[in-house]
This record gives sequence, C-alpha cells and structure tokens, in this order.
Amino acid sequence: MGLFAKKPAVCTVCNKEITHKHKPKREWALEGPLCTDCYMKTMEQYYSGTYKQKCAGCGKVFKITDLWEPRWQWEMEGLLCKACFDGKEVDFKQKKEFCSICGIKLSFFRYNPKNDWKVDGQICRKCWDEKKESSR
Ligand SMILES: [Zn+2]
Ligand SMILES: [Zn+2]
Ligand SMILES: [Zn+2]
Repeated sequence: MGLFAKKPAVCTVCNKEITHKHKPKREWALEGPLCTDCYMKTMEQYYSGTYKQKCAGCGKVFKITDLWEPRWQWEMEGLLCKACFDGKEVDFKQKKEFCSICGIKLSFFRYNPKNDWKVDGQICRKCWDEKKESSR
C-alpha cells in the first residue's frame, strides 16, 4: 500500500528505527513496538524484578515487584500499587453490596442490569423494575 507501509517503525523506548519489530508483552504496559535491545533489556529487568512500571491507578512509578495484578473481575489493564489495589478492592466490594442506582444495601436477592442500561454492578429489585419500565 501507500506511504504508511514504507514508514519505518520506531522503538517506543529508545526511538531507534527498527528492522526487526518486537511486540512488548502485555504486562509491560508499553505501547510497542520495541527494538531487539530494548526488548531483551526489558525482559531481563522484568524477570530480575528491577523493571519499573507505572501503577494503572495513581500513575506513580513502582518496581514491578511492588505492583499487584488486578483481579480479573475489575476488567482493567496494567498493574496496581498496593494502595490502589486495596482501594479498588474496597470499591469493588461496596459496588457488590449496594445497589448501583439507589445505593440501598442489597440482600441475598440482587439483579444484574441489562447491558443496554449502562449500569455498573448489581441493582435492587425496585430499581430493576423501574429500569425495565422506563427502557420499554
Ligand atoms: Zn529500543
Ligand atoms: Zn497506585
Ligand atoms: Zn436500587
């Protein structure tokens, strides 16, 4: 194709032109592509625990060994520092225990909102009925 295909790729880390592109691993949280040098270096740092990465929550830089992998239920990318991880967990638990619309404490019976309602988390019976009524 046209010009775009001929444009040389540049390494995200060192900005050198790349002849052989490497795709960064998902957990490195880099946009990529990487040159061979940077790829190897990152890999090494990552495994020796000296790799530094931004927390996906607060944006501060931490050593990879001080970062936590978010729980899969949180549906997020990247890694979190302990503080953000704990915060998220509290957040998530609260979301699970309270109706996302009216905030009432949910009993054993809770309802999952339909996708097109664009509601995060679970809701109470009353709100579910109301939503259903108004989305008709
Ligand atoms: Zn590079
Ligand atoms: Zn953080
Ligand atoms: Zn409710």
